[in-house]
Amino acid sequence: MIKTDFPQQCVIEVTAACDQSCIHCGRAFMERPKKTMRVDMFQQIVREIGRENPDCEVWPTFMGEALLLGKRLFPMIRYAREAGCRKITLNSNGNRLTEENIEGLLSCGLDRFIVSCDGHSAQTYERIRVGGRFERLYSGIHRLLERMRSARLETPLIELQFSIFDENEHELEDFKKYWLDQGVVVKCRPKVFWSGTIPGGGRRVSMQSDRTPCLWALDTAAIHWNGSVVMCAIDCEGKYVAGNVAHQSLKEIWNGSLAWLRSLQQQRRFRELPEICRQCPDWKVKKAQAFFPSDGVREAYENYVRRGRTFHETHELVGEPG
Ligand code: SF4
Repeated sequence: MIKTDFPQQCVIEVTAACDQSCIHCGRAFMERPKKTMRVDMFQQIVREIGRENPDCEVWPTFMGEALLLGKRLFPMIRYAREAGCRKITLNSNGNRLTEENIEGLLSCGLDRFIVSCDGHSAQTYERIRVGGRFERLYSGIHRLLERMRSARLETPLIELQFSIFDENEHELEDFKKYWLDQGVVVKCRPKVFWSGTIPGGGRRVSMQSDRTPCLWALDTAAIHWNGSVVMCAIDCEGKYVAGNVAHQSLKEIWNGSLAWLRSLQQQRRFRELPEICRQCPDWKVKKAQAFFPSDGVREAYENYVRRGRTFHETHELVGEPG
C-alpha cells in the first residue's frame, strides 16, 4: 500500500437529517445532534480537495439524506465541480426522486449516483428501510432512467445498491436481474455494524492474525456536519475525533492523528488502536461486488472508480456482462 498525504475519498455530511430509520443504520441510534453543514464550510472543504487532490472522490453524504436539502444541494455540488473536484458521487435513499430533483441531479455536474434499495418487494423493502415507500422508490428510479434515456445522457453513472441481510437475501437474484435488464450497475455489499453503534449489532472482533488493515481507515476521510473529522466513514457517532476543519485543514488532520492510526493499521498493531476501532468488525466489509449490464458500462465504471487511486479498489468487480 502506498502512503498518501491526502485522502482518496472524502465523505462529507452535508446534512444528518433523514426521513428513514433503517434497521441496519447507525443513525437511528446516534445521540449527537442531527443538523446541517454550513454551506461555507462545505465550500472550504471542496476547495481544499480541488486544490490538493482533484481525484479524491467526494461523497456529499454521511449519516443523512442529502436530497432533503432539495434545491440547496445542487449548487453545492456544482460548486465542488467548479472548485476542481473531478469525482463526485452521491448516495441516496431514492425516495425523493421528484421531477425537480432529477433535473437538479442531472445538471449539477454529478458523476455517480447510488441509490440504496435493499429489497425487491414492498414487504421486504419497507420492513428494512422503515419510513421508505417501495412504490415511490421504484417509480422515481424509472423516472430518472427514462429522463436520462430520452436526453441520451451517460452520466451520472447509476448504481443500485443492495445491502445483504437475512431479511432480504432471498430477493437478491431477482433484484439483480431486474435492474441489470434496465442497464444499470448493481452493487451488493455485506452489512456493516457501524462500529457497534447498533445495539446487538456490534460484536467483538477476534484479535487473531487474520485481521487485516482496514480500508475504511486507509483511504477515506469522514467529516461530520459540524466539521469534525472522525475515525472513519463508519464512525457515525464521532467516538474518535481527529480534528475539525473549522480550525485546521483536512490535510493537516489527515497527516496528524489519522496518519498515526493508519500506521498502526498498516503495521497490524491492532491492539493499540482506540477502543472504537479495536472492537469494530467493519474492517471485514469494505469491499462490495459490482455487476454490470454491458461491457461499455463496466468500462465506464472501472475507469471512474480507479481514476486517481493508488492502492486497492473499493470494489471487487465480478459477474458476466449481459
Ligand atoms: S475497524 Fe471499524 S472503526 Fe476501525 S477504521 Fe475500520 S471501520 Fe473504522
